[in-house]
Amino acid sequence: MFRRFLLRVLAVLAACVCLTGIVTPASAQRALAGEPLQVCVLPDTGGMDPATLIHHPERFDCTTEQHKFGPGNFWVISNDINRRSLSGEPLNARLASLWQDGLSLHILYADGRMASSATDARGVTPLLQLGALVEQPLPQLDSDVVRLLWHVQGSANVRGIVLGTRISTGSQSERTNLTMAALYAAFAGLCVALIIYNLALWGALRHRFQLYYCVMVAALLAYTFSSSGALAWVFPDIANNDRLRINYLLLSFTGASALIFARSFFEERIFSGWLGRYTAAVATALAGVGILFFLSAPFSIRSADAAFTTVFLALATVVGPTLWQAWRRRSNYLWLFAIGWGVPILTSIARVLAGLRVIPWNFWLDNSTILAMVVEALISSLAIAYRIKLLRDERDWAIASEVMARRLADTDPLTGLLNRRAFLDQAIGRPGEQQLLLADLDHFKRVNETLGHDGGDEVLRLFARLLRTHVPATALVARMGGEEFAILSSASEPVEPELLLAKLRATRMPFDLLVTASIGVCKGPLTSDVEWKALYRGADSALFEAKLAGRDRARSTLRAAA
Ligand code: GH3
Ligand code: MG
Ligand code: MG
Repeated sequence: MFRRFLLRVLAVLAACVCLTGIVTPASAQRALAGEPLQVCVLPDTGGMDPATLIHHPERFDCTTEQHKFGPGNFWVISNDINRRSLSGEPLNARLASLWQDGLSLHILYADGRMASSATDARGVTPLLQLGALVEQPLPQLDSDVVRLLWHVQGSANVRGIVLGTRISTGSQSERTNLTMAALYAAFAGLCVALIIYNLALWGALRHRFQLYYCVMVAALLAYTFSSSGALAWVFPDIANNDRLRINYLLLSFTGASALIFARSFFEERIFSGWLGRYTAAVATALAGVGILFFLSAPFSIRSADAAFTTVFLALATVVGPTLWQAWRRRSNYLWLFAIGWGVPILTSIARVLAGLRVIPWNFWLDNSTILAMVVEALISSLAIAYRIKLLRDERDWAIASEVMARRLADTDPLTGLLNRRAFLDQAIGRPGEQQLLLADLDHFKRVNETLGHDGGDEVLRLFARLLRTHVPATALVARMGGEEFAILSSASEPVEPELLLAKLRATRMPFDLLVTASIGVCKGPLTSDVEWKALYRGADSALFEAKLAGRDRARSTLRAAA
């Protein structure tokens, strides 16, 4: 029941995230402020003057896809804008943050004037907005903006030279920034809460996978911090390319820790054998390629990027076999894992398709890793809760069977009464004056001879039931051995031996045999072993007296006399 409900919730959650966040272009439009700009490209062959170029859009290539130009320096021109940047409603150019050494912007106004701005050694860092978008303000010159011309130096051009170009007004930018701030704050809050909650759980339960989970979420949080551009706000002197290097490094750590978490979370049998080794290898390769990218990107960004993408694809190859093994070996966590990782897998597929230019680049795709990993982290958290539920069930079962085992060890199997050991455990130490009855069936050897051993057993059972039903609830009743029984009750709630004898005589026995017993009674304190011995000796001698006096009767002794 619980499981089916959980799965339904998860399925809906995953579907919502997929639909709203990752693939729907409508929502992507909403998050990207302003109007899209068309851009055309001219490779920089040197000696070119922006003041001339900006008047000649016809010299630019508008048809060749950007990535086909390869790395290098480029001029990129926009279509005509013909809008005015006003003090009340200033215009901004917005574009995606990409690997490049420098970016200058030249703006042509309708009155023929030009304004220019260039980035310093930090690149676009001072222009970064949340979502890692670059925003370049267009100066207000009391004349319409005609078009924009960018000069991109040292473009890696992995996915493009200048991507996601838009023209937005100040209020549109503000609204987008607010949306992004809310989005990232929610992500960060969620991650912090998940870490604290799971660390606290780890403190209580000490399962290693809980720690790995915290490491994974912490890596995700750090990755979000850098990929959102927030890192550049905290460290404004960092070069944007260095931020991107950190980005890749953290993404690789996130992937590796997610794998390690998955491996530690599943039952051991799932990752025994080659899959365990393969997973460890991919996790190591992921962390390794992140470090490799971090170190080598400044020298060969394109090959570093290719290596990174390849290894990241290997991450997806672990998931299929894991699902297969989990299904084959009947893991309890198969479905949770499938849903939790379904979203990251879908987004990786989308990213690969975008990499192959089957679908266009979009903002959500660029940030899909965060979204997908947040879904994964959330569902993993539910998976942890589910796992803890199974552990609880296991514990409850263990407790129940221990209780059962103890009860078995404490009872006499024939009559179900306490055995001698359990009786002594519970009897010694009872506060206040106690009354001990020792009851011994008369001529039981004869009973056995008449009824057979099984008949004798039946008599013992009937006598035990009689004792249990005619003593106070707080009294202890035990079979001390053979056909001898003990009844211990508080002296303030004494058991009447004559009553027991009368009931026994009236009990219908096999073959209507008359069975009688003799009872010895003694009263006294019972706080220690010594007192027990005295009390027992007293009751035993009273029993002996009862036997001597002709059986089927009770006798009492004072403890002092004993
Ligand atoms: P007395 O009146 O003096 O107590 O005589 P008795 O025959 O009852 O006394 P005794 O102690 O000599 O014999 C007890 C008999 O109880 C001996 C044994 O065969 C029998 N007995 C002991 N345990 C069991 C049991 O679990 N089942 C059956 N059927 N008989 C038992
Ligand atoms: Mg006997
Ligand atoms: Mg006996």
